[in-house]
Amino acid sequence: MTNRNETLFEQAKQYVPGGVNSPVRAFGSVGGVPRFIRSAKGACVWDEDDRCYIDYIGSWGPAIVGHAHPEVVKAVAKVAESGLSFGAPTAGEIEIAQEIIKLVPSVEQVRLVSSGTEATMSAIRLARGFTGRDLIIKFEGCYHGHSDSLLVKAGSGMLTFGTPNSGGVPADFTKHTLVLPYNDNYALNEAFREYGNKIACVIVEPFAGNMNLVRPTADFMQLMRNLTQEYGAVLIFDEVMTGFRVALNGAQSIHNITPDLTTMGKVIGGGMPLAAFGGRAEIMAKISPLGDVYQAGTLSGNPVAVAAGLKTLELIQKDGFYENLSQRTLDLTQGWQALAEKHGIPMLADCVGGMFGIYFGLEKLPQNYGDMQKVDNDLFKRFFHAMLDAGVSLAPSPFEAGFVSAAHDDEYIQTTLERTDRVLAELAMSN
Ligand SMILES: *Cc1c(COP(=O)(O)O)cnc(C)c1O
Repeated sequence: MTNRNETLFEQAKQYVPGGVNSPVRAFGSVGGVPRFIRSAKGACVWDEDDRCYIDYIGSWGPAIVGHAHPEVVKAVAKVAESGLSFGAPTAGEIEIAQEIIKLVPSVEQVRLVSSGTEATMSAIRLARGFTGRDLIIKFEGCYHGHSDSLLVKAGSGMLTFGTPNSGGVPADFTKHTLVLPYNDNYALNEAFREYGNKIACVIVEPFAGNMNLVRPTADFMQLMRNLTQEYGAVLIFDEVMTGFRVALNGAQSIHNITPDLTTMGKVIGGGMPLAAFGGRAEIMAKISPLGDVYQAGTLSGNPVAVAAGLKTLELIQKDGFYENLSQRTLDLTQGWQALAEKHGIPMLADCVGGMFGIYFGLEKLPQNYGDMQKVDNDLFKRFFHAMLDAGVSLAPSPFEAGFVSAAHDDEYIQTTLERTDRVLAELAMSN
């Protein structure tokens, strides 16, 4: 049988490194051939071989109202006709800033950028400029985009500074970054006791989603807020994934904690390149042109991206949107959990809002990156490919969270569970 995905992947590899424009798309951790997607609508994507999949990647988060929602597409088309980019302020930028500020009350002022990487990189520069300090704290397993000072792995001791975990990053750039274990109150306390007055900021995913879904404890989040306040460090919630995903008002509304700065992306662009960072007006006043912390972007606040974002933010505010999304996600993960038990497969599932995690080979839900290292990769790979063959597309790595959209109605969830039932039955037989 000819397979266009295979042909395209071979071609792509000639012209694009690894055949992809972002590494996880290459199926490196699961093996096999990535599906080249031709189109998407609602809860489904179609590949170049015209196979249809129920999609739980959702463009890695943005597709929360479903792919190619007619109202979003219409808004984009309408604005595009009036011009694609001006490099000058537009009224739409005020509208979306107002929406963001209304929905995320810790944000008093906001600046738009084009990617989550830009948002976190700029928020960190701002925190350093505001405090006049260099050190930053991040947590192992949290991802904050690919800027130099954030591509760091933990040093050899608990309180030693990080080393680069990517080629091309000077060790000098990462020596200001302290990497601590997630959910480790002791390490956080010690870090502040040792370096408190030199720490510019703590940046955290307020539900981790880039080492699979990992929940923080309430204590851990509260301690982080208390220590940053006590020592005058800036607390940055990186809500690029969790913003408008776990709840309408973000993870901060679930934890009931007010960060100083918040970064957003993914959902706010509704599928277009749009991201943002914002927070206390006093801190935001440090950004150029008002202050001396430089930040800029040719396509920042792009009118077409803003139109997609505005329409998406409007749709997610409809009555019952998050109740429905959360319930469907819970139905899915509880269904999976029950099927795993039925077939005796060591698989756990968890969810927050419209985001979920599946974990193979763990006895209890993971607390940190160390726990996640113990997942059964081999079992995940077999599950992943069997699901893909059955027409269900999950993230091609055991270290990624999954996403449900408003287009995943009860029927899609039930179909997914029926297919999973068959997949797990086969896995159990071959085990
Ligand atoms: C995706 C993500 C980023 C990076 O966003 P890009 O738009 O891919 O640059 C940063 N932080 C978190 C928490 C993310 O999930």
